Amino acid sequence: CGIVGYLGHRQADELIIKGLERLEYRGYDSAGIAIINGSLTVHKKAGKVKALRKLIKNTDTSGTVGIGHTRWATHGEPNDTNAHPHTGENSRLALVHNGIIENYAVLKNALIAEGHSFLSDTDTEVLVHLIEQIQQEGNLSLEEAVRLALTRVEGAYAIAVIDRENPDIMVGARKASPLVVGIGKDEFFIGSDASPFLDSTKKVVYLDDNQVASISLKNGLQIRNTDNEEQPPFIQELDMQ
Ligand code: GLU
Repeated sequence: CGIVGYLGHRQADELIIKGLERLEYRGYDSAGIAIINGSLTVHKKAGKVKALRKLIKNTDTSGTVGIGHTRWATHGEPNDTNAHPHTGENSRLALVHNGIIENYAVLKNALIAEGHSFLSDTDTEVLVHLIEQIQQEGNLSLEEAVRLALTRVEGAYAIAVIDRENPDIMVGARKASPLVVGIGKDEFFIGSDASPFLDSTKKVVYLDDNQVASISLKNGLQIRNTDNEEQPPFIQELDMQ
């Protein structure tokens, strides 16, 4: 029920965990985090963000790009495996999702028939497998693969995705679930709302339905809709404490 993402030059883990704590008011049953630092590291746990904190206390979660999630289970019981982030076939991509993928069963069966194996009972896991498959088939950018995948998805979603093979990019997208991008100084944030990153920046872009945001330290924030039309970002300066 809450999404946080960070791409920048600071350690992502503490920023993400703190951000998740600020989203606790949205309610949730599990929490998790994925960080890229050469490899992709994922930690997730049923229960409160406190339990996730405890889980990663003595592990190395250093890295300057990552995503985190608090889950409100709709498909699959609240346990460690079903918690987000979810990863694809070879742990290249990590994805967090809020909402419901209505046609997940059809997509999942097709992916299983093509050799994908699933670990969780969530609707969400099909998204990351689908994106990974489209990305690899066409040798596409993460943003393009996300966009194409979403044209095949029915339902409600806010998602954030990162790619071990391209740690300079984070992709976010939404339809009927909220997602906002925070623009800092040489750093970017993603959140279900702006509360996770208000300490760092008040410059935000609220995504509209069917928009896919490609966030990169090199190229900044670029937004397209699922029809592949460029959408100039509308940057707002929030006036709050
Ligand atoms: N439908 C997804 C799940 O059950 C996401 C739930 C949420 O919005 O937290 O894992």
